Amino acid sequence: MNSCYKVRACCSTYGCDYVAHKDVIRTINHESSFSFCMYANSLTDQEFAMKCPECGKRMFLYPVTQLAEVLYYE
Ligand SMILES: [Zn+2]
Repeated sequence: MNSCYKVRACCSTYGCDYVAHKDVIRTINHESSFSFCMYANSLTDQEFAMKCPECGKRMFLYPVTQLAEVLYYE
């Protein structure tokens, strides 16, 4: 049984129709995902690279843990 830890991004802007949640990186554990999110969400707009393709506002990052029997790589 393998666990899969990822960071995903989504647009949290009110009224934006972009609803896709995009995988950003894979990490080794939940703590890594969490600290990456803390770091990325604390960056200023200039430093922050991920922009919403719909509204152009910055994306919000959050940690994801998947408990999966089959791991797939994109
Ligand atoms: Zn958006």
